[in-house]
Amino acid sequence: MNFQLDEQQRALQDTARKFAQAELPALARKLEEAREPLPHEWVKRYAEMGFLGINLPEAYGGGGMTHLDAVLVLEEFAKISGAVAAPIFESCFGPALAVQRYADEPLKQRVLRAVCAGDMMVAVSMSEPGAGSALTDLKTRGVIEGDTVVLEGQKRWCSGAGHAEGYLVYCRLSDAPGAASIGAVFVDKGTPGISFGKRDYLMGFRSTHHADIFFDGARVPASQIVVPEAASRS
Ligand SMILES: Cc1cc2nc3c(=O)[nH]c(=O)nc-3n(C[C@H](O)[C@H](O)[C@H](O)COP(=O)(O)OP(=O)(O)OC[C@H]3O[C@@H](n4cnc5c(N)ncnc54)[C@H](O)[C@@H]3O)c2cc1C
Repeated sequence: MNFQLDEQQRALQDTARKFAQAELPALARKLEEAREPLPHEWVKRYAEMGFLGINLPEAYGGGGMTHLDAVLVLEEFAKISGAVAAPIFESCFGPALAVQRYADEPLKQRVLRAVCAGDMMVAVSMSEPGAGSALTDLKTRGVIEGDTVVLEGQKRWCSGAGHAEGYLVYCRLSDAPGAASIGAVFVDKGTPGISFGKRDYLMGFRSTHHADIFFDGARVPASQIVVPEAASRS
């Protein structure tokens, strides 16, 4: 296995490093102190420079590059601070990748295009007050009623809660026990029946909002089931 970066990867790394070191240290300090996320105009600037969705397909507005390419850029921004690296992480990994891998085509087009353009942040919501490491203890329900999923439950520790425009919410889609009924639904922030708890105060990673999310009969189109329940996939 070759562990050397090729010429293109070194050039990408160099571009990211020069930008991050020249433009971001003072801004990062300000954001960490104020506990505020990167302002929208800066996220748009990242998008224009091709730093968002680096590893997502060009068909969705991404850079069409590899996961390693995305990590090389992320590393250079993260050397400055999580405050300025978070939009890169969120657009390249986690829920964005799950949407790219599993969502239906219209949802991919809507969500990933907005993510790559810097117009949407997507958060992942798995943990609950009684489900951390043992995630299969999660209790949030998504009851399928025709072409709608009705969500009931409470999530904890969601990074981006209240700030992100979209949430990939892991929940039980049937009564099957353990992992078998767990799937994931994409939920837009403005959906009636969703509310957010008080913002958590953390020792670090402070510019990102973290909070509980409450689902109280939130109705989401069934076409936004990104991951069907595990039982139906086997
Ligand atoms: C800053 C921050 C951001 C987060 N962002 C998100 C997010 O965006 N979305 C989201 O869904 N979640 C998020 N989380 C939650 C995170 O994923 C959970 O904290 C994690 O899953 C651990 O759960 P827990 O805190 O309940 O710890 P616990 O599950 O209670 O674990 C506590 C300790 O016990 C150990 N332990 C647990 N079970 C066992 C076992 N069976 N055997 C031996 N040891 C065990 C663990 O290793 C750990 O050391 C975030 C957490 C933090 C701190």
